[in-house]
Amino acid sequence: MAEMRREPSRKSEPSGVGEAVGSWPRGEARAGRFESGGAGARASRRSERSEPTIPAPREAPARLPRVRRLRESLERLYQEFDYTARIDRDAIRFPLRYQDPADREIVALLTACLAYGRVDLFSRGLERALAAMGPSPARFVREFDIDRDARAFDGFIYRFNRPRDLVAFCAAARDLLAVYGTLEACFMSGYSPGDPHVGPALEHFTRVFLSADLKRVFSRGRLSRGYRHFFPQPSTGGPCKRLLLFLRWMVRREAPDFGLWASVSPAKLLMPVDTHVENMSRAVGLTRRRTRNWRMVAEVTRRLAALDPADPVKYDFALCHKRMSGDCLGRRDAVVCAPCGLRSVCSHWRHVRRT
Ligand code: SF4
Repeated sequence: MAEMRREPSRKSEPSGVGEAVGSWPRGEARAGRFESGGAGARASRRSERSEPTIPAPREAPARLPRVRRLRESLERLYQEFDYTARIDRDAIRFPLRYQDPADREIVALLTACLAYGRVDLFSRGLERALAAMGPSPARFVREFDIDRDARAFDGFIYRFNRPRDLVAFCAAARDLLAVYGTLEACFMSGYSPGDPHVGPALEHFTRVFLSADLKRVFSRGRLSRGYRHFFPQPSTGGPCKRLLLFLRWMVRREAPDFGLWASVSPAKLLMPVDTHVENMSRAVGLTRRRTRNWRMVAEVTRRLAALDPADPVKYDFALCHKRMSGDCLGRRDAVVCAPCGLRSVCSHWRHVRRT
């Protein structure tokens, strides 16, 4: 899943952090009232007045309350999506190569850090980095010695990132693992079951990496732009898509995710909103916001939590790949849209449905 835009950098605390996830906005609450006072109720009142009793007509799909239609449409997409066909085009294939949980954890984080831009382009750079780390990336990191191992990344280049960013990643992860034992333990040290979502723990997790002692890598004492780009913080207001994707992989127990972090509830996850998910979210009415930022993440997640509070980000993979694969063009198209199960909730077909 490619991140096509840079995350905006703002200094203020996002209002989305700390927002409770799980309620519908006023517009959908209005739609909800339709359930008790809509076509079915009108038909029922008519049937009370007239004799003989005429059975109420079956409710047409377009007349179903919007929340129910959206849930049914997304659930069908989720259940029927061909995950196997798309795994090889997704960044999750990199951590899935490793069986050892320690390897999978560190590879998942490195993959997420580099998962921006086109999948085929960052994949090439990542393949090179993983080849340099040998058969056990976790062991490579635990035993990382800057003098001995830094040369392993010579020649690496991917957009903002250079060899020293990978050296800094390995040095910081080595020190973190020496203190906490696992990435999960580090994340959990900032996690409280009372938090409405994973935002505060993610803030803590990124701060640990950004405050690591990296003077031997960055001799002027300033972190490189490429290394800072690895660890966007929720408090800057950006969507933090790559790290929320990392959390989806680590926490969700259902395929295609591998759910190694059993101590975090999937209900606390936030939607990783990249450009594809943003477009699909607008199409099915999960957001009307123009800017992809933390507020949009909170809004999309809040609306998805109304559909499935226990697993609000379950639709992420299918929504993202539907758009990425060309099964949705982001506009009305008679041929492409014909088999689409989201048509009854898609804003691109709203005017057609009304006529
Ligand atoms: S109906 Fe068409 S535009 Fe709407 S989500 Fe489906 S494929 Fe995309």
